[in-house]
Amino acid sequence: MYCCQYCFEDVNLILKIKEYDEIGNCDYCGSEEVFIIEVSNLTEEFDMLFKHYESTEPYEYFHPEIHDDPTEFGDRLIELINADWNIFSEKIVGSGTDEALLFDILNSNKRFDPDEYVDPHNLYSRITQAFTFVDPLEGWEKVWEDFKQDIKHSNRFFPEVKNDVFITRLDAILEFRTVYIENMDLYRARLDIQPISKMKAPPADLATAGRANPRGISYLYCALDEPTCIAEIRPWKGAKVTVAHIRPKKKLKLVGLFRAPISPFEFESPYEILEIDKILSSFIQELSTPVDPAKSEIEYVPTQYITELIKSKGYDGILFASAMGPGNNLVLFDENDVEIKAIDTILVNNIIYNYNHE
Ligand SMILES: [Zn+2]
Repeated sequence: MYCCQYCFEDVNLILKIKEYDEIGNCDYCGSEEVFIIEVSNLTEEFDMLFKHYESTEPYEYFHPEIHDDPTEFGDRLIELINADWNIFSEKIVGSGTDEALLFDILNSNKRFDPDEYVDPHNLYSRITQAFTFVDPLEGWEKVWEDFKQDIKHSNRFFPEVKNDVFITRLDAILEFRTVYIENMDLYRARLDIQPISKMKAPPADLATAGRANPRGISYLYCALDEPTCIAEIRPWKGAKVTVAHIRPKKKLKLVGLFRAPISPFEFESPYEILEIDKILSSFIQELSTPVDPAKSEIEYVPTQYITELIKSKGYDGILFASAMGPGNNLVLFDENDVEIKAIDTILVNNIIYNYNHE
């Protein structure tokens, strides 16, 4: 049986299929004259993926004396995988074809070894949900906290070696988080009616500290959409806001810091993936928390340091989810990489609050 490049969303799998350089028709999604691969050639990758799961065994995932319905504790393997990763393409995800393909790949080399056979009718659970699971990252929060303490209060410019975990991992993270943007509009907002000359980054000597930049170093903060850039400046009802439409002058190389699932095929061990995920979430979370004017500037030193580390590796900026608006923010290190095409004045009619009673 053959599957094809269009069966998958995961970049690593698509690349592998293209490298095989075989053209034909897909037995799963039905695409014709495309890059195809015999399913057994993907078994190694899917064995790596399967390390994240186990069948839902009694006493490991539930107590049969108390819980009479194991389906509350386990699920179909395909449901778990689709919830955790971005592996199958839209063409087949959720159609049942994804499940057929998954088990054909997993079992293609194991037909004669019943111990290795992965049974589609079993219930599965994430290994992290097992009663006996010991989080190998316990203590990770401490590594991040230690790093912050060190850089804020002990060693500002040459932080200590104990932060190595973060720094050495950063390269790997950046590599598969690289995104390029070119022919698209970016948006930047400022309160009040502003002339076009005031819509670029503030002059370096007037630059105040932000999550990404220290005082005295000026970066251009913008957003990928208009509502987000307006929300970011926290306007009030009735406020006038100037919005600049900005175009990149070149292809911008960015780090996309999203909480999107990472590919399970990048790393040997599932724990390594968990670690990367934690590192990313800690940094992203701090980066997207709004700047609190009451807080000391020193609080922002850790994210400023990581941002500068990213800059030193040849990136033009970073892209991350906005905490204030619906979309993504962009921090550009050099405002000369973009030009303002037009400005627009808008009036904020209304602001909607969404809240819960606690
Ligand atoms: Zn296909």
